[in-house]
Amino acid sequence: MHVFITGANRGLGLELTRQYLERGDHVFAASRQPDQAAELQQLQRQYGEHLVLLPLDVTSAASIDAAVQGVRQAADSLDVLINNAGVYPHAGSGDDHQRLGQLTHDDAIETMQVNAIGPLLVSQALLPLLRAGRKGRIISISSGQGSLTWKATGDPYHYSASKAALNMYMRSLAAEVGHMGLISVIVDPGWMRTEMGGDHANQDPADSARGIVRLADQLHAEENGSFVTWQGQPVPW
Ligand code: NDP
Repeated sequence: MHVFITGANRGLGLELTRQYLERGDHVFAASRQPDQAAELQQLQRQYGEHLVLLPLDVTSAASIDAAVQGVRQAADSLDVLINNAGVYPHAGSGDDHQRLGQLTHDDAIETMQVNAIGPLLVSQALLPLLRAGRKGRIISISSGQGSLTWKATGDPYHYSASKAALNMYMRSLAAEVGHMGLISVIVDPGWMRTEMGGDHANQDPADSARGIVRLADQLHAEENGSFVTWQGQPVPW
């Protein structure tokens, strides 16, 4: 199987990369600066041609085009795309940047570009390769923070709005790609101990990754367009 993962250099993306490689799959691990991704380089020494490191900034059209060409040089198709890259501006800084009174245009735009628009345009660009795959699946990593039903606080404004926008983009995409035999789902990975989630989070990203790999393996056409947890439970929109 050929898997493409964004934000593969750390956190959940790195765990997903490791677990697919351990199973013998081929991984295209995309990150902004592969030459500085020590863990990915270590994995490449271990797994050789099963792992292709690609530069990708999901907010850049030129970077997305180059990544597609990078995949085409090594493979004719993709089976799974995991839209994992994401930002939470000022994560862990303990400041109030996502509270009313502190909101900025720059934070809003950055969050929307990386968390919502980027995944949509990466998916669009990789669609021909996914259509050529066995059962193309698009897994977009969202968050319970993107649930309108669960929203009970102001903070974080931008992050929540960006994940709600991601959900709508991917639900729209699902309606179209379903007719092509592809499946697109939106996944809440839980609160994980990563740079974004912080040390107090209750979950090991390896557990989330294990659940997401299993979920991706077992997807059926009727699940296309759904919003679920890493354990496959429905999340309210
Ligand atoms: P991390 O902060 O550990 O990693 C984020 C990844 O996204 C990094 O690889 C980072 O690359 C990459 N990234 C950021 N901006 C861009 C960009 N413009 N182009 C390409 N890559 C980019 O986060 P997690 O591993 O915790 O999060 C993974 C996903 O899970 C995200 O979508 C997040 O929103 C979601 N999530 C996380 C939760 C948590 O508790 N941690 C909870 C719910 C959802 P770089 O190193 O270059 O910055």
